[in-house]
Amino acid sequence: MNSQIEKLLLLQELDLKIRALNTRLKVIPVEIKKISAETQNEKEKFTLRKGALMSEELEMKKLEAGIKEKDELIRKLQSQSGMIRKNDEYRALMNEIDNVKKGVSNIETEELILMDRIQENRAKVKDIESKLKDKEKHAAEEEKELLDIENKIKIEKQNLTGKRPQYTTGISSENLPPYERLLSKGAGTPVAEVKDGLCSNCHLKLTPHTTNQARKGLLARCDNCAHIIYMKD
Ligand SMILES: [Zn+2]
Repeated sequence: MNSQIEKLLLLQELDLKIRALNTRLKVIPVEIKKISAETQNEKEKFTLRKGALMSEELEMKKLEAGIKEKDELIRKLQSQSGMIRKNDEYRALMNEIDNVKKGVSNIETEELILMDRIQENRAKVKDIESKLKDKEKHAAEEEKELLDIENKIKIEKQNLTGKRPQYTTGISSENLPPYERLLSKGAGTPVAEVKDGLCSNCHLKLTPHTTNQARKGLLARCDNCAHIIYMKD
């Protein structure tokens, strides 16, 4: 095999490892973002639930204040009743007291229904809160793990990139720039083997002339994708 091809293949092996590391480096921040978006989503659900519970509790306080107010009114009316002489006025006052009492009873019914709801929602909020805490803890761990992996990949990439000059020496200035242009496309293999008359990069058929050139060990290019092609001895 042409020694330039041999050197290019070794360089390509290194470059493809670096490319794979770069791909992983791109994915990690996306993963981290996804995790934190999920946690944020849960947090918002919790805030909404808690807000709803707080307004129910506020409503309960208003009902209690309403009862207190009506109880005071009943006491005031009852104290007035002793001073009334006329029967019809007395009856009207008693009626009024009865109405206020009915109002108290209505509010108490409302209170019972609301209390049930509050108790149910307090349990739900507590449950969501504990799940959220678990999720946050889990997310922090996952994030840390991903950052550790990211660091390791960066170190590995630095290592491989540092070795690159060793691999490019000996490759002629005629061959290295075209190789690097093909590499910078970010996909496929810049140097591709010819298998059964096909280019193993684009999988299309090569002309007999090109195949012959490759067979002779010349640096040929694929007729379709223009990648450097070679044939194993
Ligand atoms: Zn091709």
